[in-house]
Amino acid sequence: MTSTPDLAAAHRPATTSAPARPGHPAPSLPDEPRADEPRPGEPSLSGAGNAALMTVDDVDAPAAQPGRRVLLAAPRGYCAGVDRAVITVEKAIEHYGAPVYVRKEIVHNRFVVDTLTRRGAVFVDDTDEVPEGARVVFSAHGVSPAVRQAADERSLQSIDATCPLVTKVHREAVRFAADDREILLIGHEGHEEVEGTAGEAPDHVQLVDGPDAVDEVVVRDPDRVVWLSQTTLSVDETMETVRRLRERFPKLSDPPSDDICYATQNRQVSVKKISEEADLVIVVGSANSSNSVRLVEVALQHGAGSSHRVDTVGEVQDAWFEGVDVVGVTSGASVPEILVREVLEDLAARGYGAPEEVKTAEEDLLFSLPRELRADLRLRAKEQAEAGAS
Ligand code: SF4
Repeated sequence: MTSTPDLAAAHRPATTSAPARPGHPAPSLPDEPRADEPRPGEPSLSGAGNAALMTVDDVDAPAAQPGRRVLLAAPRGYCAGVDRAVITVEKAIEHYGAPVYVRKEIVHNRFVVDTLTRRGAVFVDDTDEVPEGARVVFSAHGVSPAVRQAADERSLQSIDATCPLVTKVHREAVRFAADDREILLIGHEGHEEVEGTAGEAPDHVQLVDGPDAVDEVVVRDPDRVVWLSQTTLSVDETMETVRRLRERFPKLSDPPSDDICYATQNRQVSVKKISEEADLVIVVGSANSSNSVRLVEVALQHGAGSSHRVDTVGEVQDAWFEGVDVVGVTSGASVPEILVREVLEDLAARGYGAPEEVKTAEEDLLFSLPRELRADLRLRAKEQAEAGAS
């Protein structure tokens, strides 16, 4: 395995063309400039990735046996929020020097966390583990105002890598709470993103952990309820939760736009497509990655004979391939492409053909780096330019 690949843009997938559902418009995105647009005095981030990791086109299958195929889902892997968060930590280490503290896993992927740790990131559970005055990065999943306040009280220098699409949900929570609405937040109990969103308006938010939890919901005023959701849920299951909530509360309001993000939706659409044909679907992603776990569920619900999630190729088991002709492969939104490539190479060694990409959407969304980091990078570039001119 490659020791320390460049994680940034290891897979820069492609667009925001999440399918709109009836009565539920496609996501409206915050007005963020692209991360890879060169700015005056700031180095371009395009090309930050390792080109060798960005393609699987050259995965050969010289020993392919007739009828043994591999369907490779697209889009898969890195989303815009993960790409931005990973680049943020890489740039912070490069610019400020190690160690750079990171609250929680920057993204939910073991390989990414281990690689960044080797480079100088120190992952902590909470801000009280960070030395006073040190620099800390908040993860892509977002933090509550209480966490920001705790960081300020320790004089930490915070860099906020919260995905802008998570921030959008935070803003919705704040707005609905200000309007004294009761917010039914559909999401998984204990997930960092849910804790961050709920923390924006703790007196107004009630967690609804899936359709089976709907019967336990108690509200003050059924005329003033609205639902929001975690960004990485199963679209189908969330719609079922909403349907049951609406049965109980007919005046339930929808969020202004989809909370389940474009990347989660696109990866679910593409895994549904390959599952129609695949006897087995392998999902590359970590156990604590919500969107990766959902991909296994979606594959099983849409025709895959079996489906398994693996962190790395080392977890692939021989027993899964008995009687299997067509293997589908995809990966969660926090997975570098190198891990997918290793699975494809393993399949080639087992006699499966070269990967046939099944593309269901184009993605080209990119987010700018957090403004605190951007400002420091710009300042350094300016100083270097002035030093060079003198
Ligand atoms: S999965 Fe969606 S919400 Fe989460 S970091 Fe990626 S783009 Fe942002």
